[in-house]
Amino acid sequence: MITPDDLAFDRDHIWHPYTSMSAPLPVYPVTAAAGCELQLASGERLVDGMSSWWAAIHGYNHPRLNAAMKSQIDAMSHVMFGGITHPAAIALCRALVAMTPESLECVFLADSGSVAVEVAMKMALQYWHARGEPRQRFLTFRHGYHGDTFGAMSVCDPDNSMHSLWKGYLPENLFAPAPQSRFDGEWDERDIAPFARLLAAHRHEIAAVVLEPIVQGAGGMRMYHPEWLKRIRRMCDREGILLIADEIATGFGRTGKLFACEHAGIAPDILCLGKALTGGTMTLSATLTTRLVAETISNGEAGCFMHGPTFMGNPLACAVATESLALLATGEWRAQVAAIEQQLREELAPCRALPQVADVRVLGAIGVVETHHPVDMAALQRFFVEQGVWVRPFGRLIYLMPPYIITPEQLTRLTRAVSEAVKNPRFFRH
Ligand code: PMP
Repeated sequence: MITPDDLAFDRDHIWHPYTSMSAPLPVYPVTAAAGCELQLASGERLVDGMSSWWAAIHGYNHPRLNAAMKSQIDAMSHVMFGGITHPAAIALCRALVAMTPESLECVFLADSGSVAVEVAMKMALQYWHARGEPRQRFLTFRHGYHGDTFGAMSVCDPDNSMHSLWKGYLPENLFAPAPQSRFDGEWDERDIAPFARLLAAHRHEIAAVVLEPIVQGAGGMRMYHPEWLKRIRRMCDREGILLIADEIATGFGRTGKLFACEHAGIAPDILCLGKALTGGTMTLSATLTTRLVAETISNGEAGCFMHGPTFMGNPLACAVATESLALLATGEWRAQVAAIEQQLREELAPCRALPQVADVRVLGAIGVVETHHPVDMAALQRFFVEQGVWVRPFGRLIYLMPPYIITPEQLTRLTRAVSEAVKNPRFFRH
């Protein structure tokens, strides 16, 4: 039960992601979720098109995920990881090492995606420090998004994440123009020239290249050509620069491959995972690296990697993550994601002809309609709820990334609602 008084309290006292406390956007009370549906306090059910920001890949209230958590609760919900280990962390790390590229052998567990990125950046800094050649800069793309903590923010798009606000405090990293060669288009050799020039000019300062492989998510839902990753891998190898792949959004099947790096057949030196790691049930992230990076760090001045959060290796999160990986190991996701991709292509394609629409793009279980003008978030959100769907647009992007278990009928509800929305000029700020 949620009362009007509860909602008033929420409005007056509780911050929601990226919202104002003085003029908050409306929030919709959800009291339960199962399969691909969210249940509002009013009893209405909405088909979920967001997977709770890339996370709930198997749908909500999954019996196997629930059972894994319940059984772990009865053993222990948490225990410190300093000086202690436990079966849940060992099982999860075994599974992660087995399913990621062979070169990635050492796993650091942390609390959230942003922290996984902090850990990755810190690994790169400590690696160079230990080599007696301190390097302090990272090279990345514009339109990237890597999280909201300071290290992660320093490699997010400078405009989107308002670097101007933190000037003087935020490390100044190197930004190449965002990739232009599209995933579904031709590779244009000229695309990579500015990146290559930046890398060459700063090659003795750059600790690592940081990127979201194939799909730039929150920074624009842009899907770029795999040749980019092959070239960057080669450049990094030539210069001995580390490559950090942030697969926090793209990992675990979302782009049609288990990891997006597979589209290019490359392996990073450091890999960040999060979001869908626990099937969208709990917060947990993992940063994996090579034996070389791990040993170089460990043999350096500090003698260890300088990070160790309180809830590191939380058993409850590890247990449910292991079960989520077991669900993925059945391989069913491949056919599910392929079917979602096909249906998104067919059902979103007609949007291309509409005057509000600048672009439609689909990859794996991600469907994006980019509009010419920014959406009126509150009005459009209300419209989607009235249509019985949960879709959360931002900026000039209306996008779908449903749980893999979505039925064709449920997916059609989502694509129909999006198609209707983009026909209506009143949902856009001109
Ligand atoms: N990296 C990427 C690519 C992401 O999409 C996100 C979250 N949207 C993050 C990092 C940060 O993860 P978290 O919100 O769990 O800190």
